[in-house]
Amino acid sequence: MRVSTGRVTGSDGRMFTVVVESFGVGRQRRAERVLTVPFERLQSLMQTIALQGGRIRVLSSTDLEPTATPATTATPPADAASPAANAAPTSSSTAKAPVSHADVPVNLYKPKAPFLGTVTGNYSLLADGAIGRVNHITFDLAGGDPQLHYVEGQSIGIIPDGEDANGKPHKLRLYSIASTRHGDDLADHTVSLCVRQLQYEKDGETINGVCSTFLCDIEPGAKVKITGPVGKEMLLPDDEEANVIMLATGTGIAPMRTYLRRMFEPAERDKNGWHFRGKAWLFMGAPKTANLLYDDDFNRYQAEFPENFRYTKAISREEQNAKGGRMYIQDRVLENAEEIFSWIENPKTHVYMCGLRGMEPGIDEAMSAAATAKGLDWATLRPQLKKAERWHVETY
Ligand code: NAP
Repeated sequence: MRVSTGRVTGSDGRMFTVVVESFGVGRQRRAERVLTVPFERLQSLMQTIALQGGRIRVLSSTDLEPTATPATTATPPADAASPAANAAPTSSSTAKAPVSHADVPVNLYKPKAPFLGTVTGNYSLLADGAIGRVNHITFDLAGGDPQLHYVEGQSIGIIPDGEDANGKPHKLRLYSIASTRHGDDLADHTVSLCVRQLQYEKDGETINGVCSTFLCDIEPGAKVKITGPVGKEMLLPDDEEANVIMLATGTGIAPMRTYLRRMFEPAERDKNGWHFRGKAWLFMGAPKTANLLYDDDFNRYQAEFPENFRYTKAISREEQNAKGGRMYIQDRVLENAEEIFSWIENPKTHVYMCGLRGMEPGIDEAMSAAATAKGLDWATLRPQLKKAERWHVETY
């Protein structure tokens, strides 16, 4: 085994080159593959190679003379004094997180002293014939001290006007933010939400959700109590070459919209200076075509960035899965399982899931079946992805 590292700019230093056999999928599996990863990716690469029974031929670091070792498993060299051993920490606490949490704002405004935002827009996201009501609502955040700001993947709290059945002020409800940190108008002081009006039947009566109805009905100019921002689970990696798989149902599209605008919306890209060069793949589940959210934008991104963006829809009440049931996103995941796995094998790939909690078992089943087909154990692999901060879930 040869080990070489080269200094790169930035705090983490070394780059590693790994030459591996029998790693990957399809024809690639037999071929020798050369992978170059920074220090902080080495551990997760090793784990993935080990899980797939890959054989490391060479692990290179320019700090060491090349060392030949027998090709066996993906276990990093046992020589603890060597840079290679240092480069493959056994605890995630020693690995640098791929997503930077340091400058993420949290709880700038709390329920006892919320920020009063002003509604600047409220429009329906649905086409004719859609089920229910889903609106895109924008608030002006200017003038706060401190300024209420946020990053992609966070949520804010809304405290609806009025009182509950006990005469007490309503509690806050959390909503995933649907705009990038720069806001839809790129003016750096707005936030947008994607809100579905909750409606259900009880004792023959239609009950409307308190906060979702308050928001869907709200008029421009109204003042709304806002708290937060909160959440670090759904942050995007800093790496412009990351790959991002997104699994969303309904309004769970909110964080995905922020990622995709950050990646592909031309004016947003100019503004944010983050020049995404990786691959993004969105799986979106909606009951009807008319219920697809931000569909025109996503189709445009796919047309403009065909090498970087894929958009796969599951329209549950218009399409059928292989068993003749409703087409859900886990069925689409199953159809594309081999390719999704080949993405996940790449340590630069992150998976994000947002929406109905009910999709989680189905996604797990689909991933599990795909893993088993490759001789892998999903129950082992998934916690490793989570530990490596590459598996992000926010479902209600
Ligand atoms: P929706 O428009 O009703 O669409 C949901 C889609 O998912 C429909 O096609 C639905 O199919 C399908 N679906 C139903 N059960 C499923 C299952 N077990 N597995 C996979 N797909 C399934 O969605 P929505 O009303 O906007 O609901 C979105 C949910 O996400 C809400 O519960 C909301 O609270 C949650 N959410 C969470 C976050 C967060 O955690 N940050 C953010 C936003 C939204 P059928 O109805 O045709 O069966």
